[in-house]
Amino acid sequence: MNSPTVPNGKDAILVVGGGIAGITAACEAAEVGNNVILVEKEAFLGGRVITLHNYFPKLCPPTCGLEINFRRLRTNPRITVLTKAEVTKVAGARGDFDVTIELGAFDPAALTDDEKGYMAAWAPAGAPAREASTIETKVGSIVAATGWTPYDANNLDTLGYAESADVVTNMELERMAASGKIVRPSDGEVPKRIAFVQCAGSRDNNHLPYCSAVCCMGSLKGIRYVRQFLPEAEAQMFYIDIRTIGRHEEFYYELLEDEKVSFTKGKVAKVVPEEGQLEVSVEDTIGGKLLHEKFDMVVLATGVVPNWKDAPIEGADVAVDDYGFIHQGTERTGIYGVGCARRPIDVSRSVKDATAATLRAIQDTRR
Ligand code: SF4
Repeated sequence: MNSPTVPNGKDAILVVGGGIAGITAACEAAEVGNNVILVEKEAFLGGRVITLHNYFPKLCPPTCGLEINFRRLRTNPRITVLTKAEVTKVAGARGDFDVTIELGAFDPAALTDDEKGYMAAWAPAGAPAREASTIETKVGSIVAATGWTPYDANNLDTLGYAESADVVTNMELERMAASGKIVRPSDGEVPKRIAFVQCAGSRDNNHLPYCSAVCCMGSLKGIRYVRQFLPEAEAQMFYIDIRTIGRHEEFYYELLEDEKVSFTKGKVAKVVPEEGQLEVSVEDTIGGKLLHEKFDMVVLATGVVPNWKDAPIEGADVAVDDYGFIHQGTERTGIYGVGCARRPIDVSRSVKDATAATLRAIQDTRR
């Protein structure tokens, strides 16, 4: 099979990752005249954002923001989008890179229902089957918008994820809300009490030593879903600190007024399945007492792990910090980490971050 023709030359920019940061970078670069190759490893575009039920700041469904960006991508002839593709090798230097892109075989029939749904937003007419092939080309600069993966809750051996189907992650709650109902995975019953456990792995030297920055807001949003979908249910959040930024503070204050929502300051020590429920043990550091409370469902605020940490691109000259986030120093290597590849940040900050870094990538193609 012939490989698709892609931009080739020092004026081209390679964007790795088709989430919100990568899409932003591709559109910004193409709209000032650069040719762009956007490479996404999944069959669909939209990254983590498209898997959410709603997203900040306006709490709209992902399609409302992505639709505009998808149109920008589709209508700009300077952008070549390659899905089910991976950049496997980079050689050269700023202004003159040789890159290798592996296009995976693509079988539309093998997609899951979720993947088909995500894909419909980007490619409503579907995409044809494709055989695997390799592309070699040249670009002037590279934007690494490689995104993040939720920390594996199976590693949190005291929080019950491996023992009970009713302990779910915040991203799993997003998918439940997107499906239109929130029920206990074990028996399909409507939960009456739901616990939200913050810093599930984050700010913990045994797991992720840093704050993942977005999961306080993620859980407050999850509580809002509970109140919308299950008006009779109670939600209780267990937190070390509640980290909300700027106007998001108001979102938290609104929930403080809700009599079905409560907040307890304390790091959860364990979650144990107990007679069909889940017992949450925690030291309430304000009340000064040990609590053992029963819930029907527990939601873990799992943290942000940069994908670059376990899957850097061979030959790419980038510095990373102790946790695998791309470190943007003052030295310019022609490769720019953006969004959650660089630090845990929310959608609107990812967009701004991608726009700023793309300006540098553009400059590298015009020296
Ligand atoms: Fe913990 Fe909140 Fe930071 Fe997430 S954002 S790691 S839940 S303090």
